[in-house]
Amino acid sequence: MKSLLIAIALLASTSLAAQTAQCKATTKAGTQCTRKAKADGFCTLHNPATIHCAGKTKAGKPCGRLPMTGSKYCFTHKVN
Ligand SMILES: [Zn+2]
Ligand SMILES: [Zn+2]
Repeated sequence: MKSLLIAIALLASTSLAAQTAQCKATTKAGTQCTRKAKADGFCTLHNPATIHCAGKTKAGKPCGRLPMTGSKYCFTHKVN
């Protein structure tokens, strides 16, 4: 009986920790982003304040990668 209580407490604490540490954003697939969240509740990629690459993918969608330092583009979309 005691071990069951400990198991429940352990489960509750781990799910709580996952809630606070996991990014709140939803991915294109409709599932929750599994990246680690920063203080504002979003991972680096989903943080609205984060600047993303200005390039586009082959499908014509925004790249979404993080740009290289001092550039508007990620490594893939970098223009020399
Ligand atoms: Zn995220
Ligand atoms: Zn890019």
